Amino acid sequence: MALEIYNVLHRTKEPFEPLHEGKVNMYVCGPTVYDHAHIGHAKTYISFDVVVRYLRYSGYDVLYVQNLTDVGHLLDTGEDRILKKARQAQAVPMQIVETYTRSYFEDMDALGVVRPDISPRASGHIPEQIKMIERLIEKGHAYVSKDGNVYFDVTSWPSFGKLSNRQIEEQQAGVREEVREDKRHPADFALWKIAEPEHILRWDSPWGEGYPGWHIECSAMAHKYLGTTFDIHGGGIDNIFPHNECEIAQSEAANDAEFARYWMLVGTLMVPDEFGIPTKMSKSLGNFYTIKDALKLHRPEVIRMFILGAHYRNPIVFSEEALDAARRGWERIYGAVRLTREKLRTAPEGEAGNAFLDTLEQARRQFISALDDDFNAPGGIAALHELTREVNILLNGEQPVGRAVLEAIDQTYRELGGQVLGIVPEEAESTSGSAEREEGLIRLLIELRAQARADRNFQLSDLIRDRLSELGITVEDRPDGTVWRIN
Ligand SMILES: [Zn+2]
Repeated sequence: MALEIYNVLHRTKEPFEPLHEGKVNMYVCGPTVYDHAHIGHAKTYISFDVVVRYLRYSGYDVLYVQNLTDVGHLLDTGEDRILKKARQAQAVPMQIVETYTRSYFEDMDALGVVRPDISPRASGHIPEQIKMIERLIEKGHAYVSKDGNVYFDVTSWPSFGKLSNRQIEEQQAGVREEVREDKRHPADFALWKIAEPEHILRWDSPWGEGYPGWHIECSAMAHKYLGTTFDIHGGGIDNIFPHNECEIAQSEAANDAEFARYWMLVGTLMVPDEFGIPTKMSKSLGNFYTIKDALKLHRPEVIRMFILGAHYRNPIVFSEEALDAARRGWERIYGAVRLTREKLRTAPEGEAGNAFLDTLEQARRQFISALDDDFNAPGGIAALHELTREVNILLNGEQPVGRAVLEAIDQTYRELGGQVLGIVPEEAESTSGSAEREEGLIRLLIELRAQARADRNFQLSDLIRDRLSELGITVEDRPDGTVWRIN
């Protein structure tokens, strides 16, 4: 089976056919850089990280663009998020932008998220946005209001709402009172706003000094870097309306061509409320976690494992139990990787155990067919778990295992677990000094304990387990072998 993607635009799974063979142009809506990224961001960007990694693994040449919103993303009060933060921090807006852009990349790097090829900033693309707005006015899809603001005229674009399946009439009822009511239709959205005197983020334009509306940046920057029509547009499901809808309308109206061909939207990350019921994260409810908070408590691979444990389109609930389950799953897989790498150090040359290569091939096929099915990462993880069970049986068994098969096992984990999912570290925990030695000693004790059990010397095997437990090392005997973890 070849790759299929659930295209939100048509609400169906479709075979993926890029516009240009072997090449994928992809745009994902990036963060507004006015605060530290939260774990909801981790869900969105880890999901697309796996999409990009898998496309590359499948041989595609991917150009990945993800913007940084540093102007125009207003709060419901009409206030610019960046300006508000700048006022609170008594800093100039671009200091805020710089601080949180760095913080964002720091978090993404820590989570193993491969950086986009281009990270364009809205404030660096004002001329491109102005040009697009001019074209929309020329073509009768936008107008200048009596206050000098420029709005997109939704009534001029009958397919407005096609992504979220919303009709304009429906939307009218839900539209809140605008701060400035100078639009023709309540669903019309701002392309350019005239700046109030106190608004510092401002640029010259044919309509006076002001700033772009939020949505136009994505259309202008996607067009600049990926062309009029490109392959994949991604983002969080929460932005489907109005943001994504506005992007499509203004791009297709300005360019007379289809915008993105496949739309992929990631489900929301929820947190339990005080009654344990999943709810949206919110600072005011005190159930808000930044990525930095999460990284203090959990390994990045475990956070990835948790996020990839659900299909990207589904919502997930961030809880300690869920993270704990992810950690156990990860330790199981990583335990087998560690054991493989350890055995490799002293493995005999030769082809002993090579029948296992079939098992590896089967695991790889299972993994690929899961990921080909709309990037089904949980299916990919399930394939790794099945493989891990087999690997543990092989490596804990009596038969000798030669270097060739150990190398093949390691390579399979590196490609599927490392290169694609980003949950298997390149190197064993630490190659320097004490950590490696400690791990070797633990492994030695586990082996001695296994020998004691085989000799039915349960007094000794229990003693080893209890003493390890006192040192904070949990040993667990499972049907597929013994695993251990440092608590
Ligand atoms: Zn966007």
